[in-house]
Amino acid sequence: MADRPYLFYELTNSICSTCLRRVEAKIVLQDGRVYMHKYCPVHRHERVLISSDAEYYELTRRFMKPGQLPKKFNTPTLYGCPYDCGLCPDHEQHSCLTLVEITDGCNLTCPICYAESSPQRMQHRSLEQIAFMLDAVVKNEGEPDVVQISGGEPTLHPDFFTVLEMAKERPIKHLMVNTNGIRIAQDEEFARRLADYMPGFEIYLQFDSLHDEAIHELRGADLLAIRMRALERLNRYNISTTLVVTLKKGLNDGEIGAIIDFALRQRCVRGVTFQPVQVAGRTREFDPAQDRLTLGEVRQGILSQTNVFKPEDVIPVPCHPDCIAMAYAIKVGNEVMPLTGMVDSSILLQSEGSTIVYEQHPALRDYLFKLFSTSHSPESAEYSLKQLLCCIPLASVPEGFGYDNIFRVIIMQFLDPYNFDVRSVKRSCVHIVHPDGRIIPFDTYNIFYRDDREAYTRRLQEAHRPVTIEPLEHLPVIS
Ligand code: SF4
Ligand code: SF4
Repeated sequence: MADRPYLFYELTNSICSTCLRRVEAKIVLQDGRVYMHKYCPVHRHERVLISSDAEYYELTRRFMKPGQLPKKFNTPTLYGCPYDCGLCPDHEQHSCLTLVEITDGCNLTCPICYAESSPQRMQHRSLEQIAFMLDAVVKNEGEPDVVQISGGEPTLHPDFFTVLEMAKERPIKHLMVNTNGIRIAQDEEFARRLADYMPGFEIYLQFDSLHDEAIHELRGADLLAIRMRALERLNRYNISTTLVVTLKKGLNDGEIGAIIDFALRQRCVRGVTFQPVQVAGRTREFDPAQDRLTLGEVRQGILSQTNVFKPEDVIPVPCHPDCIAMAYAIKVGNEVMPLTGMVDSSILLQSEGSTIVYEQHPALRDYLFKLFSTSHSPESAEYSLKQLLCCIPLASVPEGFGYDNIFRVIIMQFLDPYNFDVRSVKRSCVHIVHPDGRIIPFDTYNIFYRDDREAYTRRLQEAHRPVTIEPLEHLPVIS
């Protein structure tokens, strides 16, 4: 009898990448990689690469914690996930980070834009609409951890600074602006005004590559000089900044180490977030079994392309371990030390795969779980890190330690119609507020709920309508 060429690891639900209907999906391990095998009754079989690192994929299961409830849910659970967003009562995690999109317009037309923004779509949300959306986040979260003002390109909104004031008036712990940096590069006074919103404020700066060729392919324009000028200004005013790198396989995934090294030399940069391209909006064609850049592969890139982090440093984030990994380092002068480098090795036991067995030290595990959270504001990260270091024998807090000394690397992988996993999306903690006040996971928003996509989603809902199946008379009814 012949064996299967793979190990059937678990079963989940996904969606057909063609018609978006919910389908069953097998997760299988093969040759150190993880694949999803789906079957749609109409569009047949589909095989998608989920992770290029099966060992890390299995490790994520050891980094789960119970989800935290939002203060309220916004929709009923009716058709089953993912057609009830949201948040419906079946969702397993509150909003660690919520995007408020204040405009559809942009001064770029990036070929990978999930929102399909462009200069041709210059519709800005009114201040009343934005107030309503901000209030919707506050109603769900009480004191939202992180709110990101986004778009389109939010700095094009004619009342941009009024929007920042409105956000600051609400009990939001940490405010971010997601930007392509053009306005910051072109307008010195604009950059200077941003500094007025510090602390509790951060720029989430698009920064995909150190080469114009790669930037051009992703963004449709040569932007390196613009990015450098924006960064120069952010450095001048020391405005906390995260560099956001969208990674495309074979294009800029060889630059992971160079970008981390570059970021470490920037005064204002507190970290880098790597995001593999999500197949959404303008991104469409590719081979799902081969061309996917997965979280596991990005993590391998961080480990092989820099000397800063070791495998035990880059670990799953417990609120959504499938899709988010994180590493912390401390910067003091020219010295960079990963967090685990400060911890006594008798506590950080290493398993064969040289991953940390935090479970064997419950107090440390608790502190790490608290620190490794997307819901962190920089200030609270600083506090948690100090707490963690103080709880560890032989680790000391560097003198004068503050948020300027923290450097955080995040890998954030979003689900799309190919790698979609219902088990995982229920844990999503990065959400978008819909103009009608619903709070919707980033992943499902781009597939089902953005713009006119909802007309098609209503058809899917109809196909998953709850119907009673009348029992046959001669068969017993199980009640
Ligand atoms: S993703 Fe969450 S909010 Fe959306 S339908 Fe599934 S459980 Fe409900
Ligand atoms: S990805 Fe960002 S910068 Fe590019 S078109 Fe979309 S909104 Fe504009």
